[in-house]
Amino acid sequence: MEALQKELSKLESKANLSKPSSRIDDIIKLLEDAKASIQANPSSTKLQLAKLQQAATKEVDKLNHDVKEVYKGINSYSKALDKKFKSTSLEDIADLDYDAIGPLTGLVNRAVAMHLAREGKFNVAEIFMKEVQQRNTNDETNQIPTNLRAQFETMYEIVACIADGDLEKAIQWARQNEQRLNERRSRLEWELVKTKFLSIAETEGHAQAMLYGREQFSRFLDLYKFEIQQVVTGPMFVRSETITARPYPHLQTITSAEQREQLSAFFCREYCSLMGLSASSPLYLAATAGAIALPKLVKVSSIMKDKKTAWTSHNELPVEIPLPPSFTFHSIVVCPVSKEQTTEQNPPMMLPCGHVIAKESLERLTNRGVNGSTVTMKCPYCPKECKKSDAERIYL
Ligand SMILES: [Zn+2]
Repeated sequence: MEALQKELSKLESKANLSKPSSRIDDIIKLLEDAKASIQANPSSTKLQLAKLQQAATKEVDKLNHDVKEVYKGINSYSKALDKKFKSTSLEDIADLDYDAIGPLTGLVNRAVAMHLAREGKFNVAEIFMKEVQQRNTNDETNQIPTNLRAQFETMYEIVACIADGDLEKAIQWARQNEQRLNERRSRLEWELVKTKFLSIAETEGHAQAMLYGREQFSRFLDLYKFEIQQVVTGPMFVRSETITARPYPHLQTITSAEQREQLSAFFCREYCSLMGLSASSPLYLAATAGAIALPKLVKVSSIMKDKKTAWTSHNELPVEIPLPPSFTFHSIVVCPVSKEQTTEQNPPMMLPCGHVIAKESLERLTNRGVNGSTVTMKCPYCPKECKKSDAERIYL
């Protein structure tokens, strides 16, 4: 990587186009000056042209020399790139007989269009859908719900208000959707009102904030009594520093752009969940996870090719691919006996001693007798004995 960085800094310092471009400016000036002199004194045309030819040739030579430097830089940089990242053709490593998304083009198109819509790029999404439909009019799977655009537009309108420091629209929306948000145990409305209170305290003073709090806080008393106490008393401790400095650093206002961004992200998450959509774009998540996994898969694939072994299961990867915590959406249980990940068909079962194994492993361990349900087995992880019927399925 160091060699690459060295080449890059060389490219930036020496081989950039600033020299050639100022040289071209010089040449243009030369031509314009000559034109002006000829226009002012037509009788000197011959002399001026001779002078111009001499000067221009010199400048063009210099320009060629400068450009050569740029080409040289680009060449050695691309050589360094090739050396560092050896290209592997996907055809060499992929199992071309198995195309997982080939039959699902409609769904992929829909995912692309949905991604564009949720990014607020409505026009691009519409053009994309139009072109898809022109090619394949019968495909019903790629339709985007018609009211989606309006819903996303409202979301972006509110997010723009939050970015301007105005929370009122967001609070109104949360209030309109109070029941559904409460069903999800969402803190959205409270967080918005709390942030507004603290922002008023910071900009207009504690007294003004108290007026607002008196009006708003009673509806949150049941759920957030302790937090209300903190929020109301927090500003009393403030002297010269900002309100969030002490004594409760977790209390947020919307003074900084970062805080506004956090609040916007929280709002979008809740908004999308009420629309039945995930917080982040599935296309973005899938593509990012794929990009993280690809180098490892390429390596596995080439090792398997060398050893002439085959990838036996299409639904399971032969290696573990760790993803960042933000990509973990639910817990998984891997059976400690069979080392397989539990599924709906093969769910995790808890034995009376508290140890958990997969259902199939449990069946294998208890199947030794004639009547499976009455045979006792020893837990594979502790000395306790139990019957198959004592085990209980666990839900995560
Ligand atoms: Zn046990």
